[in-house]
Amino acid sequence: MFLNIFSPYKLIFTVQRECRVCLGAPAAWATLATSLLATFSGMTYGQQVDTKKNATSSQRSQPTVVVSQRALDLHRRSFIFDGHNDLPWMIRQKGSRTFEKLDIARPQPELHTDIARLRQGGVGAQFWSVYVPSKTAYDGTAHQMTLEQIEIVKAMVQKYPSVFEMAYTSQDVTRIRAAGRIASLVGVEGGHAIDNSLDKLRRLFQLGARYMTLTHSDSLDWADSSGDKAKNQGLSEFGREVVREMNRLGMLVDISHVSPETMQDALDTSEAPVIFSHSSARAIADHPRNVPDAILKQMPADGGVVMVNFYSGFVVPESARRSRILAEQGRELRLKFGEDADGMKKALAVLDAQHPMLPGSVYDVADHVDHIVKIAGIDHVGIGGDYDGIDVVPRQIEDVSKYPVLTQVLLDRGYSETDLEKLFNKNILRVMDASEKVAAKLSK
Ligand SMILES: [Zn+2]
Repeated sequence: MFLNIFSPYKLIFTVQRECRVCLGAPAAWATLATSLLATFSGMTYGQQVDTKKNATSSQRSQPTVVVSQRALDLHRRSFIFDGHNDLPWMIRQKGSRTFEKLDIARPQPELHTDIARLRQGGVGAQFWSVYVPSKTAYDGTAHQMTLEQIEIVKAMVQKYPSVFEMAYTSQDVTRIRAAGRIASLVGVEGGHAIDNSLDKLRRLFQLGARYMTLTHSDSLDWADSSGDKAKNQGLSEFGREVVREMNRLGMLVDISHVSPETMQDALDTSEAPVIFSHSSARAIADHPRNVPDAILKQMPADGGVVMVNFYSGFVVPESARRSRILAEQGRELRLKFGEDADGMKKALAVLDAQHPMLPGSVYDVADHVDHIVKIAGIDHVGIGGDYDGIDVVPRQIEDVSKYPVLTQVLLDRGYSETDLEKLFNKNILRVMDASEKVAAKLSK
């Protein structure tokens, strides 16, 4: 079990992580709220719910998936190229650049990620997120901290050279994978990392960043987030300039986390296909972090890819509703209680008891893949698990060793091996190729 509510270490650990998905609440409130949420979500974690007629997805019977030889063979032949893993932030929080305190060559059961489980899960390429909190935008530390996070990714690759190698192009990925190593790419999570400066954007590219999520949970001067009030009704003129500069550089425009208006403006502005590095389908689970059908429908014309996020709060319909309600009402409670921490604590406990977090299962994740395939097509879906950036994970897909379980569910639902290879890596590699071509053309 991932969450152990009796372990103070794990509770603190969870608080830090949950802050990542709490939709931009100021840290003090988030810490208080998330410690409560973690406690309650931990309680529901192992809960079994009977099959019911007309049951919602998370209440369905969830038989244990047995991974077949066919699925394992497919993973041996092909590889997972995941769009988003937050291990670098965990290393910053729990370990150090020397990896002595947190050696991922050894089992790290309190994390979702370590080397043995990456291997078991068939991960051949990974965008490592160099996330830094949105609040760093306000004290001027965002860019510097992002540079430090890039250093952590590079230190990891250096520390374990037989396992990882830095990748900067789609060809690098293919070559490194053929050599049996895990191609390691850098993805910047949030445009606050550039401090409103195109120079700093170019610097991030030079240091290896190959995508940038335009926002995290706070709206920027130039781009609106799905987790905050609109400032620009999408992208500002400078925001469009950022997208054009990313096209020139060959940095993928990632529109996870942004508002639907920003998604649309990015689609309209970007010459290269866009990506969602870790987002699921809004029609299945109604949460602002997910992608609306109106955007999914444009993916064939755009050529981009939506890489499905596994967070229970985004994939399980009831849990998405709960996350939304807690975020909305949490803001109101914050205004009401101000510095009254006790009052806030009680109000949040009531709110949480009314809306428990259901972890769901691998079947919920498969529902999102199905929906994206139905609306956007099999050429526009990928995987962006968000491991080590989330605190509640669906059953049977609890860590990076479990991708084959999702593969099995999709094989059982009739996906061909050719389809699954597109989901695993071919779609995102195609998008990288297209982006590299656009950059080459624009730099002539
Ligand atoms: Zn994220």
